[in-house]
Amino acid sequence: MHPEDLKMIWICQECDSHFIFHADVSDHRAQTGHTRITKADMALSDSPFTSNYRFDR
Ligand SMILES: [Zn+2]
Repeated sequence: MHPEDLKMIWICQECDSHFIFHADVSDHRAQTGHTRITKADMALSDSPFTSNYRFDR
């Protein structure tokens, strides 16, 4: 695991799911067909979702 991976998360704009690992994004795309998944910097972001972060699995 690369340390910098932990600083970045992915957010699906279509269902508001959050992902830490790119493998999870790939799985999500394959399972749901969602394509609007954007990358966000967890360290710089002060968005509310970082305080109530939830895992999808
Ligand atoms: Zn989605």
